[in-house]
Amino acid sequence: MSATREGTGNESQTGALTWRIKERAGFTTVEFVGDIEENADFAELKRRLKGSVVFNLAEVRRINSCGVREWVNFVRDLPGVTDLVFTNCSPAIVTQLNMIYNFRGPAKIRSFYAPYVCDVCNKEEEKLLEVQTHFPDRNISHVPEFRCGKPDCALEFDDIPERYLAFLLET
Ligand SMILES: [Zn+2]
Repeated sequence: MSATREGTGNESQTGALTWRIKERAGFTTVEFVGDIEENADFAELKRRLKGSVVFNLAEVRRINSCGVREWVNFVRDLPGVTDLVFTNCSPAIVTQLNMIYNFRGPAKIRSFYAPYVCDVCNKEEEKLLEVQTHFPDRNISHVPEFRCGKPDCALEFDDIPERYLAFLLET
């Protein structure tokens, strides 16, 4: 997966949540795509998951309040799962991580997308930030900087770090 993605351009698109399960050596990944809303049904997925599990949340675009409830009930009761990791959390997921203290359940957050902007080029990008690499001591007052691609400009973090990154302060 690329560490950068451009503004998606089709954010008005909605879609029921789907997922794809991949069995790897020693762990299982689940890639979620779509919106988490009241008709998200995690019962079958819950039964299938066991051992070490990684959720890829890059393609979750929207979560409504009923969806939050379904999700919280899902992640807090995964009897077969020994170890849960969230990777590639989309900005929608990050918003929920910051607002809903038990949205992560027992999961550790490995990586997430953050909004960046170059004011010179008027360009927006979401950058994938790795918790271990970019925030090894959970210091959110220093955010990573990226080159824009032109010599004289830079991509700057396009949110309030203390707000967008607050979830990193939870253990
Ligand atoms: Zn630029």
